[in-house]
Amino acid sequence: MQKIEKISCNMCGRELKMENGILKEDAFEAKKQWGYFSKKDAFLHSFVLCEDCYDRLTERFQIPPVITEVTEL
Ligand SMILES: [Zn+2]
Repeated sequence: MQKIEKISCNMCGRELKMENGILKEDAFEAKKQWGYFSKKDAFLHSFVLCEDCYDRLTERFQIPPVITEVTEL
């Protein structure tokens, strides 16, 4: 895992738990490099959501996220 100073949830602004540069709390990370057919061509957008905000966001989905149990890591 890469060493980072601090990470905050983009939705609620809360700082995620860190110890010695290691993230001690799981969070949702999104990254999107927009392409030619968008209005954001060549821009990379990224954000982090804490687990609570992730749940709040996905509750509003008309179709829930695809959930697959991972048995081998
Ligand atoms: Zn949050």
